[in-house]
Order: sequence, then structure tokens, then C-alpha cells
Amino acid sequence: RPAVVWFRDDLRVADNPALDVAARTGRPVVCLYIRDDESPGVRPLGGAARWWLHHSLTALAAGLDDVGARLVVRSGPAEAELAALIAELQPAALYWNRRYGAAERRIDTAVKASAREAGIEAESFGANLLFEPWTIRTGSGTPFSVFTPFWRACLSAPAPRKPLAAPQALTAGPSVDGLTVDDLDLLPTRPDWAGGLRETWEPGERAAHADLDRFVTDALARYRDDRDVPGVDGTSRLSPRLRWGELSPHQVWHAVAGARDRDDAAANSAATFLSELGWREFAHHTLFEHPDLATVNIHREYDSFPWPRLHPSVLHAWQQGRTGVPLVDAGMRELWRTGVMHNRVRMVVASFLTKNLLIDWRRGEEWFWDTLVDADAANNPFNWQWVAGSGADAAPYFRVFNPELQRTKFDPHGDYVRRWVPEWDTGDYPEPIVDLGESRRAALAAYDTVKKAG
Ligand code: FAD
Repeated sequence: RPAVVWFRDDLRVADNPALDVAARTGRPVVCLYIRDDESPGVRPLGGAARWWLHHSLTALAAGLDDVGARLVVRSGPAEAELAALIAELQPAALYWNRRYGAAERRIDTAVKASAREAGIEAESFGANLLFEPWTIRTGSGTPFSVFTPFWRACLSAPAPRKPLAAPQALTAGPSVDGLTVDDLDLLPTRPDWAGGLRETWEPGERAAHADLDRFVTDALARYRDDRDVPGVDGTSRLSPRLRWGELSPHQVWHAVAGARDRDDAAANSAATFLSELGWREFAHHTLFEHPDLATVNIHREYDSFPWPRLHPSVLHAWQQGRTGVPLVDAGMRELWRTGVMHNRVRMVVASFLTKNLLIDWRRGEEWFWDTLVDADAANNPFNWQWVAGSGADAAPYFRVFNPELQRTKFDPHGDYVRRWVPEWDTGDYPEPIVDLGESRRAALAAYDTVKKAG
């Protein structure tokens, strides 16, 4: 009887605890991916994410093939698909790596219970976070709501385990019917908007490791200085790798900590970088505590914020990078073309949407969800709420980024803006669609309502 490994947000062969345990049983292994947009509460993927998933699944299938296993692909509600596969295969065991969204946890709990009832060993593993959410607690046993003490508690918890090697020479389980990755229809057809994504990315575990090596060798030592400068390739660009689990955070952690231990010059940068992984942990732990993170304000007094009704063309101008504010337009066009945006610029465009255009943060979150290749159910709403002011450890609402000051400070020579908005200094560039000073004042006046509710 085979062992089944159910892949989800962990599209990798190395450092995959569920696959590792299955390999150690010595049983034939069936690797399974279920494309599930149908189970209640599961958030359907956006367009850019679907593109990434297509290519990452294709790479995973090849990676599994290299170690003797085969990826079975199915589509439908996960519980029903698994029940059908179990009836077909009568496996001895079912293994997976944990997810932290509410709907996903509910599905996993139900699957575990019904597998065990059927006499099948069902086990889940921690693989995609460095620290399990329920293990990091304040002195009084509650979850943290502020980052600095949260990260201090993480750093004094047992250190993240060393990554596991990829299993060698698996025995493929019996062949079962499945779909091909193409059958999942994840790619855009007409119009094909994915040209920029193809130019920018090579999804898959092998390319992910190449990116990690390149970052550690070439950019880590300067990360602390360069990370805020969008015109310089100073960050790791590992966010889609972590989102899809092509890399585990443990692999990234140990690669960076190893460089730090070998080279004193990298120490400060390494600490800053590891704390960025800490923000990823904090966002996921926050999602674990606030399952409705993408729709409900963490600070509920923000529910009374009087978002004005604006003409849809205003949101559209922001989405298309046609606001007349150069740093905002550059960011939005980078996003559309490449499926990512520099972190500094993400903060600026989010502040501009919520605090100058006075558009509800959820509209921005949805657009990012659809267009980011790293669109993440924790990091995305967490950061939107952080910028909007309603989130965990959030910037106060009255701190409004001035996109012009941000540009002169972080893109002083205009390298970044010119790359994405070539018409910027040709005289052909429009005036801003809002007055920055006036709109800021209107936002602060609206914010008084929140203060009164708080
Ligand atoms: P690096 O600077 O190299 O950082 C390394 C890793 O740390 C990242 O890959 C990421 O996994 C993590 N990280 C860094 N900053 C943050 C942060 N603020 N919050 C959580 N994790 C962080 N990140 C996503 O992965 N998915 C999203 O959907 C997403 N949406 C965002 C929306 C807004 C409005 C903002 C302001 C930020 C968002 N971020 C999101 C966080 C951050 O912008 C990206 O993780 C980062 O730009 C990715 O580039 P990098 O891998 O080169 O980052």
C-alpha cells in the first residue's frame, strides 16, 4: 500500500518534510496536487498567481520525475478528490505540510479525521514557517500584536531546523488517472498578458535555488543599504519562491545565517534580512489569529472610516499607472509587467491609494492579489492593513507618505521612475489626478471619525 504526499504551497522536492517522511517509509509514493478553487472559503487565485502555479507545477513534476516519482494532478474540492483517491488506492498513509488559512485548516482537519477513521495514517508537518503560530506567545500566553517583541520571542525560541536533503530514488506508486498541468487552464489565452512575466521569471525549484545563491553571493552584504532603493536590484526577489514553497524559509534562513557566520561584513545585512523573514512570519501568525484578514479591519474602529464614493476611473488610473505621480505610476507599471513591485514602492502606492485617493484598502489588496506573482493570503492583506493604519503594529493613519519626497529620497536620480515611465521627463507626462496636499488634508479629516470611534 502506497504513501500519498499531498502538495499544496510547498512545490519543492528538497526540504519537504511530508515527502521526506513518505520516502522513509520505504513504501511506493504517490505525489498529489489538487487544484481547488471550489471549497467554501478558499480564495480563488489571481491571474498572475495562476501563471506562476502552472509553471511551478510543471517544474515540480519534472523534479519528482528525477527522483523516481510521478505527480498526479486533480481538480475539484479537496475533500471529495482525496476521498476518491483514497477509495481508489487504499493507501497506508497520507502526509502533507501545513497551511495556516482558516478554510484550509478546516479542510485539513476534516481530511485528517476521515483518513484516520478509514485506518489510514494521516500526519501533517510544519514546513512553510520557521515558527508554528501557536508556539510564539507573550508571557501571558496571548499572540503578539507588535512586531519587535514578536521577533525577539522568535529569536529566543529553538532555532529553525536545518533543511532536509531531497529524497533519492523513490519508488513510484501505482499509476492512477489524473489531469495534465495544461488541463488546469491556468494560463491566460486571449489576451495573453503574461509576456512580461515570461521575460522576468523562471518558476520552479531549480531556478529558486539559483536566485538564492546569487542573492547570498552578490547582494546580501549590501542589503541593508540597498534594500530601500528601487532603482538598484538590492533585494532577494525570493517572495514568489517562498509564496509557492519552491524554497522553504529554513533553506533561506540557513543560507543567509551561514553567510553571516562566514563573513563579518554581512552580519548587519543578514540580521536585517532575517528580520524581513520575521515580518513574513508575523503576517502568517496574524492570519492564523485573524482569519478574515483580507476583509475585516484588525482595529475595528476603522470600520467607521467614511470612504467616499469615487468614480471608478480614479481606481482605474491607479491600476494602470496613470495617476500623474511618477513613483506611483512606475510602481503600478512594474507590477503589471513583472508581477512584483519593490517593497518601498508598494508602501508608497498603497498609501497613495488609501490616503490621497481615499479608496478602501481592500480594492488595492484585490488588485495586488490579481496581479502579483507573490500574492500571498497573509502578506498581502497584512501589509495593506499595515499601510492603511487598521492592521497589526500598523503605521498610524496620520502618517501619510509623500510620494514626491519618497521619490527624491529613494530614487534621487530617477533611475527607477525612468525605467517604467519613460515619458516622465519628456514633457509628455500629465499633472497629478489629485492635489497631494489637499487630498492628504481630506484624509486626515476623515480619519477624525476613526479617532472618535476608537
Ligand atoms: P526581500 O527584501 O529580499 O525580503 C525577503 C523576504 O522577506 C521576502 O521575499 C518576503 O518573503 C519577506 N518579506 C519582506 N518584507 C515583508 C513584509 N513587509 N511583509 C511580509 N513579508 C516580507 N509580500 C509577499 O510576499 N506577498 C504579497 O502579496 C505582498 N503584498 C504586499 C502588499 C503591500 C501593500 C506591501 C507594502 C508589501 C507587500 N509584501 C508582500 C511585502 C514585500 O513588499 C515583499 O515581500 C517584497 O517586496 C518582496 O521582495 P523581495 O523578495 O526582494 O524582498
